[in-house]
Amino acid sequence: MEIKPFEKKVYLSSPTMHGEEQEFIREAFETNWISTVGANINESEKMIAEKIGCKDAVALSSGTAALHLAIKLAGERLYGQPKVGHGVLEGKKVFCSDMTFDATVNPIAYEGGEAVFIDTEYDTWNMSPKALEKAFEIYPEVKLLVIAHLYGTPGKADEIRAICDKHGALIVEDAAESLGATYKGRQTGNFGDYSIISFNGNKIITGSSGGMFITNSEEDAHKVRKWSTQAREDAPWYQHEELGFNYRMSNIIAGIVRGQIPHLEEHIAQKKAIYMRYKEGLKDLPVSMNPFDEKKSEPNFWLSCMLIDKDAMCKQVRGEKDVLYASEPGKSCPTEILDAISAINAEGRPIWKPMHMQPIYRSNPFITEQGNGRARSNAYIDEGAILDVGMDIFERGLCLPSDNKMTPEQQDVVIAAIKKCFE
Ligand SMILES: *Cc1c(COP(=O)(O)O)cnc(C)c1O
Repeated sequence: MEIKPFEKKVYLSSPTMHGEEQEFIREAFETNWISTVGANINESEKMIAEKIGCKDAVALSSGTAALHLAIKLAGERLYGQPKVGHGVLEGKKVFCSDMTFDATVNPIAYEGGEAVFIDTEYDTWNMSPKALEKAFEIYPEVKLLVIAHLYGTPGKADEIRAICDKHGALIVEDAAESLGATYKGRQTGNFGDYSIISFNGNKIITGSSGGMFITNSEEDAHKVRKWSTQAREDAPWYQHEELGFNYRMSNIIAGIVRGQIPHLEEHIAQKKAIYMRYKEGLKDLPVSMNPFDEKKSEPNFWLSCMLIDKDAMCKQVRGEKDVLYASEPGKSCPTEILDAISAINAEGRPIWKPMHMQPIYRSNPFITEQGNGRARSNAYIDEGAILDVGMDIFERGLCLPSDNKMTPEQQDVVIAAIKKCFE
């Protein structure tokens, strides 16, 4: 196969519009609901609640805003309302997924809390229930957990729930990447005491930006609607008893969301076909795809990722902001493959760099299946015994071009380019 660059760039995951989006935006213009109130907001909230199978969904400006309010709700339930100017989580530790986008974690810090990172498992690339058990042994006082479903693959929600119930801890579920994915037949977004989704531009469906708070509690939905619109009390004037936010979704953005929702299943089918095609195309290489529990879960296949076998890794050294590798016959590394993908005008990406490795969170605790991961951070793969799963997946894994507009022919070229790296 001839490996030559695509004329038009193949993205990691770009928005796919269908036409209805523009109709709903036009409607907003014609009715002059150019605001954070309007039919697009109401309708998309209803449609998402129905899709996820929950009572209510509250449209917000971003998934991060939704996470912030979800974490604030959980914090107030656990610790009461803080004094104005203070975070509700001040002095509190919160368990959190480690290998994820930093938006999962930052809202804990917005509220003054300290994230304790829980290591990843190889099974689903999500939070390890074993490491979580260890974390409760070390920090039995912790009452809050934030989990993400990475790249659209559900984590072990039941096991995590059982552990949290045993310790009386609440769960905030970050389903930003996993809209439409199911675990034991249930939609993600249903597993947290508080859950959120995102409509960021590269997510499986998008509003260009935006997010939603997902809930079965009318009271919580009411609270989030109120907080997100500056926390006005029901009074003739602007009356304020609580700290407010300007986090509501715009009716224009909601028009895009409203037009996208009916296409969610179609996007998932396209993403799944891409994943399967990679799996088949890469099967003779010393690599594997991002895994999921085929019996219990049906991912939304948002991003296809691959992991290089340990003994097929060429030398790769990453600093804080740069990387070097040495090509070797029969072996490769994520950097070499990302270079090869970029050389054909396509876009790949490294795995989310684990939070415990990020300079900003370097002093936060990190718990692996063996216990305190900070105490073991020097015992790395060279020793043979892998103790830090997140660091290992970051080292050996990468996200492949997963755009649902990529053609099978283009994907074959991507696969050929990857194969070439191992020659
Ligand atoms: C995208 C994303 C978010 C944040 O969503 P925004 O809408 O971009 O604020 C949060 N968590 C994860 C895991 C994400 O991928």
